[in-house]
Amino acid sequence: MRAQPKASHFIDGRYVESKAGQSFKSIYPATGETIATLNSADEETINAAVESAVAGQKIWAATSPVERGRVLRKAADLLRERNRELSEIETLDTGKPLQETLVADAASGAECLEYYGGLAATLTGEHIDLGGSFALTKREPLGVCVGIGAWNYPIQIACWKAAPALVCGNAMVFKPSEVTPLNALKLAEVLIEAGLPAGVFNVVQGFGDVGAQLVSHPDVAKVSLTGSVPTGAKVAALAGEHLKKTTLELGGKSPLIIFEDADIENAVSAAINANFYSTGQICSNGTRVFVHTAIKDAFLARLSERTGNAVLGDPMNETTSVGPLVSKPQLDKVLSYMSLGQEEGARLVCGGGAASVPNFPDGLFVQPTVFADVEDTMRIACEEIFGPVMCVLDFDDEADVVSRANATSFGLAAGVFTKDIQRAYRVTDQLQAGTCWINTYNLTPVEMPFGGYKKSGIGRENGHAGIEYYSQVKSIYVEMDGVESAF
Ligand code: NAD
Repeated sequence: MRAQPKASHFIDGRYVESKAGQSFKSIYPATGETIATLNSADEETINAAVESAVAGQKIWAATSPVERGRVLRKAADLLRERNRELSEIETLDTGKPLQETLVADAASGAECLEYYGGLAATLTGEHIDLGGSFALTKREPLGVCVGIGAWNYPIQIACWKAAPALVCGNAMVFKPSEVTPLNALKLAEVLIEAGLPAGVFNVVQGFGDVGAQLVSHPDVAKVSLTGSVPTGAKVAALAGEHLKKTTLELGGKSPLIIFEDADIENAVSAAINANFYSTGQICSNGTRVFVHTAIKDAFLARLSERTGNAVLGDPMNETTSVGPLVSKPQLDKVLSYMSLGQEEGARLVCGGGAASVPNFPDGLFVQPTVFADVEDTMRIACEEIFGPVMCVLDFDDEADVVSRANATSFGLAAGVFTKDIQRAYRVTDQLQAGTCWINTYNLTPVEMPFGGYKKSGIGRENGHAGIEYYSQVKSIYVEMDGVESAF
C-alpha cells in the first residue's frame, strides 16, 4: 500500500520538494509497510514557507470576512466529499480503524471549517461611549501563525488550528507530526481548491527542530502546539524568548468519577470510550476511573465482559473496532506500562500485553487493558500512558474523590456519572479541568471550547473562545473636543 504525496511540502499553492534535509517514512502500523517517504524541511524551505505566508496573509486579511467564510465553508464541503479517501489515508498513517476515521477525523475537521466559516461575518468590534468622544475596538489578525500537530488526530488538529486562524485573517504554516505527515497536505490542496489565496496555508514537514525553527522565525507572530507536556514546555520557553503568542494543547491523566447511583451500562460505555477509542491515544482520555465501592464489582464485571467484545483486526475492515498503536516507540512505551502495573501490584482484570492478530504478524496491536485496585501513587495512575490502559480506583466519599481527582499536575478533562444533578454540578465546579462531562465522556463538539488547566495547556481551541487566540483587539480613541495640555 502506498500513499506517497506528490512532494513533501505544500508552499505558495503548490507541492514543493526540499533539496536537502533528513528523510523519514510514514509507516502503516498494522503491517509495518512504508506508505510514504518524505523529506524534512531545510532552512531554505522553512524560510520560503514563511515568506509566502507573509505575502498571502496581506491578501487574505484584505478579503472581506463574508468571502473568507465562503472559502472555509467550501473547504468543509470538499473534505466531506473526499471523506472516504481522506479517512483511508488517515487509517494508513495512524493505524486507527476506518470505523473511526470515517466519522471522527476529516468529518470533525469539516465541522470546524464550517463553524468558523459561519462565524466569519459576525466578528465585530465595539463602540464605547466616552461622553462626547468615543472609542472603537476592532479585531485584527496576528499575522503568520505556526501550527504544530501531534500524531493522533492529524487532519482534525490541522483544521482545529487552521480554521480559527484563517477566519481571523491570519496565514498559517503548519507542521504535522513526523509520524503522520500525510493529510495536512490534502487539507492544503482542498483549501486552495476552495479559493484560499496561495501562501495562506502552507505545510512543511519535519521533526521537532523544524518546529523550533518555525517558532523562532522573526516573521512568525504566534504558535499553536498540540503535543506532550515536555514539548509544550520547550515550545513555551522558545516562544517566550521571542515573546510570541502561544496556545498549547497538551497531555492529561483525566479522572472519570462514577458514583453509586450511576447508570452502570452508560458508565461502562463511557469508560470504554474514554480509554479504548483510538486505541487509547486521546489526550482527554479518562484514564483514572474512580468507581464507588458500592458498584465496583458490578461495574468491573460488565466492563470486563464488554471489553471482550472489542474487535482487533484489519483497520481497513469497517467491523474492526480497535486498531494497532501508531508506532514502535509507542508500542514499547505502552507495553512497559502494562508490565509496570503488574509490578506495582495493581490487579489485572483483562488484557495486559501485546495482541496477536491473524494475518497481521507485524502489527503493533495490544490488548485493551483494565487494572483494578489501583492506588493513587502508582505510576500507572500518575503518568500519561497514551494507550489502551484503564486504571480503576475505589472511592467511598465525594469530597475525598474530588481531592484525589485534582491531585495531579494535569488538568485537561474530567467526567462525572451520577443521576443526582446537584451532585454533578457541585463536583464539576470543584474539578480542576478545562472540560468536564456529566454522564458522558470525550465528546468535543466544535461549538464547545477545549483546552487545559494546569500543565495540560494554555489557551482554548474551538467555540467563540478560539477567536481570542488568533486575533488582537485594537482600540481607537476618537476625540470630539479640543486637546488640553499642561503648557
Ligand atoms: P510530541 O510532543 O512528541 O510532538 C508534538 C509535535 O511537536 C510534533 O509535531 C513534533 O515534531 C513537535 N516538536 C517536538 N519537539 C519540538 C520542539 N522542541 N519545538 C517545536 N516542535 C516540536 O507529541 P506526540 O507524541 O506527537 O503526541 C502525543 C501527545 O500529544 C500526548 O501527550 C497527548 O496528550 C498530546 N495531545 C494533546 C491534545 C490536546 O488537544 N490537548 C490533542 C492530541 C494530543
